[in-house]
Amino acid sequence: MIAPEPLSNALRKTENVSATLLNGTLLAKRIRSQIRSKLKKLTFTPGLAVVQVGEDPASTIYIRHKQRDCEKVHFHSEVHRLPAEITQERLIQHVEGLNARQDIHGILVQMPLPDSIAAQPVIDAIAPDKDADGLTPVNLGNLLINRERITPCTPAGIIHLIESTGKPVAGKQAVCVGRSQLVGKPVGLMLLNRHATVTYCHSRTKNLTEVTQSADILVVAVGKPEIVTADMVKPGALVIDVGINAIGHRLVGDVKFDEVKEVAGFITPVPGGVGPMTRAMLLENTLKLARARSQSAPNRSI
Ligand code: NDP
Repeated sequence: MIAPEPLSNALRKTENVSATLLNGTLLAKRIRSQIRSKLKKLTFTPGLAVVQVGEDPASTIYIRHKQRDCEKVHFHSEVHRLPAEITQERLIQHVEGLNARQDIHGILVQMPLPDSIAAQPVIDAIAPDKDADGLTPVNLGNLLINRERITPCTPAGIIHLIESTGKPVAGKQAVCVGRSQLVGKPVGLMLLNRHATVTYCHSRTKNLTEVTQSADILVVAVGKPEIVTADMVKPGALVIDVGINAIGHRLVGDVKFDEVKEVAGFITPVPGGVGPMTRAMLLENTLKLARARSQSAPNRSI
């Protein structure tokens, strides 16, 4: 992970916001610029392949953003659009074909997959050394044993945002609301690896407000609009809102921003908080994978 530095511009107190805003858009731009610098030392172009199955409109937008990001850092990118009716077996074969390509260093299978396809066997098929999303069992296992290499993009982006405040994580009470494999569970592990005291909440948690009120660091990844309200937040807490919920034409997070900003010490906006950082981490992971490949196979023409 690129060492984050406190960003005076990304940490902006605005007139209407009591909390300091954690600007993921600016931080992501800084990271892309660092990636472009690092790229100068490479003798080849990192390549990212994104696999989309079906035509989920939100996925199509996310993938377009990812392609644009690749252009910004001069990576090669390709999108493999496969029909929703594809069988699990054919999809896995497709992934295996990408594993074998020398010019592709990172592979991402865009979620969600159609209901007819189980996601885990497809993720399992991605070679760990091409796992740009950090979701294969090998990379998640490395995270579990505190050997962070390729970490899942959203949790990695959240850690960057938290570290950009310059505030220590060690010894802090961290609460993750949500325990998904994609976000909640790995971000909790990453905070634990940084010596926070971590509590997970989920749909069966009975005393949610009581637990969230204890959080110095509160990460909310639920997917329910504005489920976290001001009374649930400890004054001065660092609040990371992962949720993306469409309400008509408007996007809102899982945190009731307008009231929580009056209580929190730091807060991420939606949009413009975690989302851009997730994409920046995808680039960072792809670069790491490309560099690792070139170091492990000096004679291979990649
Ligand atoms: P999942 O649906 O996989 O997980 C949601 C989690 O929230 C589950 O652990 C669930 O508990 C928990 N939950 C549900 N209801 C409650 C409740 N009432 N109280 C407490 N916990 C509850 O979602 P994801 O983790 O994939 O995504 C979460 C949100 O983050 C979504 O809005 C998604 O769009 C967004 N997202 C944003 C990204 C970004 O880059 N900004 C990237 C990825 C996701 P249980 O396990 O018991 O079911």
